[in-house]
Amino acid sequence: MTLQAQRAASLPEQLPELDWIVDPIKVGRLSADFAWFSPVLKAQLAGKRGDIAVRPRSEDEIRQVVAACARAQVPITVRGSGTGNYGQSTPLHGGLVLDLSGYNAFGWARGGVGRAQAGIRLADFDKAARPLGYELRWLPSTFRSASLGGLFGGGFGGAGSITYGPVAAPGNVLGARVMTVEPEPRVLELRDAEAMLLHHTYGTTGIVLELEVALAPAQAWMETVAVFTEFDVALHFANDVAANPALIKKDVCFLGAPSRSTSSPLPMPCRKAATPCFSSSPSAASPACARPWHTMAARSPTARARQKSRQADAP
Ligand SMILES: Cc1cc2nc3c(=O)[nH]c(=O)nc-3n(C[C@H](O)[C@H](O)[C@H](O)COP(=O)(O)OP(=O)(O)OC[C@H]3O[C@@H](n4cnc5c(N)ncnc54)[C@H](O)[C@@H]3O)c2cc1C
Repeated sequence: MTLQAQRAASLPEQLPELDWIVDPIKVGRLSADFAWFSPVLKAQLAGKRGDIAVRPRSEDEIRQVVAACARAQVPITVRGSGTGNYGQSTPLHGGLVLDLSGYNAFGWARGGVGRAQAGIRLADFDKAARPLGYELRWLPSTFRSASLGGLFGGGFGGAGSITYGPVAAPGNVLGARVMTVEPEPRVLELRDAEAMLLHHTYGTTGIVLELEVALAPAQAWMETVAVFTEFDVALHFANDVAANPALIKKDVCFLGAPSRSTSSPLPMPCRKAATPCFSSSPSAASPACARPWHTMAARSPTARARQKSRQADAP
C-alpha cells in the first residue's frame, strides 16, 4: 500500500462520524463515470480509482474531510452523480472521492432566482421549484440523475438552452458558495462573473457547495410532432420555430429520414421535453412510417387536435 493510500485509509479513524465507503467494489463504482462511451478514455482510465470515498451530509462534514485531506496531502476528486462522459470524476492519482450526492437540499426559489446545495439532482430541483412557479433554464438529457454541481462543474447545457443559452451564458449562474481546499478551508460567496470562474473546471479549483441560478417561468410543456414529406420545408419550419423568440419552447429536435429506424417511437429528447419535433422524409407520409409519430402525438387531446390540423395542412 502506498503512503498516500495509508493516509487515505486512516481518514475514517480521524472522522468516524462521517459516511465512509471503503468497500473496493463500491469505491471503484464511485470512481467511474460514463467515460466508457469512449474507447480511447476507456483504455486510458482503466484501473484508475480512488482509495476511499465519503458521502458528507453537511457543510461542516465537507469542511472536516477537506481539511483532513489537505493536511495529509490526499488528493480529492469531487463527484456529483457521475454522469459526466469524459472521466471528469475519475481519480487519476488515487485519494478520496468526495461524493456530494448526499449534500442535496433545495434552498429557495423567488423572483426568478433559485438556490440549492450542489448535490441536488436537477430533476429534484425542478420538482421543488415548479410549485413556486419556476423551472430550471436547462436540463441535460441526464437530468433525472445528474446534479446541479456536476452540471456546473463539467456540463454544458440542455433542453432549454435554445432559449437561455448554455450554463455559461451571462445571467444564468448568479452566485456560488465555494470551499477552498487547504488545511483551514475557507468558504467564499462568489457572485456573477467570479462565480463563473469555477464553471467547467471539474472540481479542480474548489468545491462548489451551493449554486444560485436564474430560473425560467414554469410551463406546462407538451410534446408536438410534425411530419413533413419535403426535407427542405421541414428544415425551414424547424429553423423558424427555433429562431422565433415569440414561441415559447424547451427544445427543437429535427430528425431526418429514416426516423423510424430508432429503437423506440421517438428519441428521448422528443419524449422528455415539450419538443416541436419534425420528421422529414418522403417515406414519412406512408402509414407504416407515420404511425409511431401519430400515436405519440395523440396522447393529449390538444396534441391530437394539432396533429389533425397539421395532417390537413401538411405539404
Ligand atoms: C447519455 C448522456 C447524455 C448527456 N447529455 C448531456 C447534455 O444534454 N448536456 C450536458 O451538458 N451534459 C450532458 N451529459 C454529461 C453529464 O451528464 C452532465 O454534464 C451532468 O450535468 C453532469 O452532472 P453529474 O452530477 O453527473 O456530474 P459528475 O459527472 O459527477 O461531475 C462532473 C464534473 O463536475 C465536477 N463536480 C461535480 N460536483 C461538483 C461540485 N459540487 N463542485 C465542484 N466540482 C464538481 C466533478 O469533479 C466532475 O469533474 C450527458 C452524459 C451522458 C452519459
